[in-house]
Amino acid sequence: MEYQQKRQVIETGPKQQTNGQQGEATMPRRQTSITGKRLNELWNVGAKHALYREDGKWYHNLTDFPGVLFDSNGYIVFQTEQDYQQNSYLQITEDLHIKGGEGISSIPGYIPISEKNQFQAFSQTLKEAIGEYQTSFDEALNKETHDYHELLKAVDLPTRSSELTRVLTQINRIVRDTQIARKVKIIHNYSCQVCGYTLDLGNGKLYAESHHIKPLGAKHNGPDIVENIMCVCPNHHALLDYGAIPIDLRDLRITSGHIFSEQYIEYHNTNVYRQVRGSIVVPQI
Ligand SMILES: [Zn+2]
Repeated sequence: MEYQQKRQVIETGPKQQTNGQQGEATMPRRQTSITGKRLNELWNVGAKHALYREDGKWYHNLTDFPGVLFDSNGYIVFQTEQDYQQNSYLQITEDLHIKGGEGISSIPGYIPISEKNQFQAFSQTLKEAIGEYQTSFDEALNKETHDYHELLKAVDLPTRSSELTRVLTQINRIVRDTQIARKVKIIHNYSCQVCGYTLDLGNGKLYAESHHIKPLGAKHNGPDIVENIMCVCPNHHALLDYGAIPIDLRDLRITSGHIFSEQYIEYHNTNVYRQVRGSIVVPQI
């Protein structure tokens, strides 16, 4: 019965377009991890070989040209192999290192990506992620297996732990993990807005949780809208849920495209925060 209720909650979301060819739930290929290939497409660079490193300091070697190296803020194109081999900023051995320790942004010809471009890229990723998420999740539900693992698999959360209790607590969170919440996570590229940490699952996927600042549910009746949702790591999610920390807008990592409504922060600080500050206790080395 409880399952049934949850299911109805999910079905109130926007309807998917059903792909008649697909007989069974497919694992979502959520493209939240950034690759050179992907950035090359998103920003229409048109290179034959594209590599990405967040800090832009070392790469594998480019082997096809034009080739492009991306970091998290921009890119540099090498039109020919000669341009690449003769560039005095590059130290080419088995791998490629950028001399001077500052990464590709220090090389003349580096093209910074504007915030607008970055936001467009995120929007594109978001569109794809939602499409895939919806299809696989709905298909998993349509199978009516009532198999929690199937459902977890469909939304692509870690399933390594087989302890049912853990899975069940996750289920609660997943069901509430609406597409809007996913949008927020994608906008922040799965990094915690409190501490900046990102969980890398090691399989090309990142993990974060969404926190409704004014909680959903009968007592608080917070809305499920972007302005009421934060992208957080599991630690900060727990601290916020238990009212152990206040929210100070000035301390949060804010990304363009995500605007908070201060009334919900006010609500947290007044009604959820228990006025005694908790913290993450770091072990002494
Ligand atoms: Zn955190």
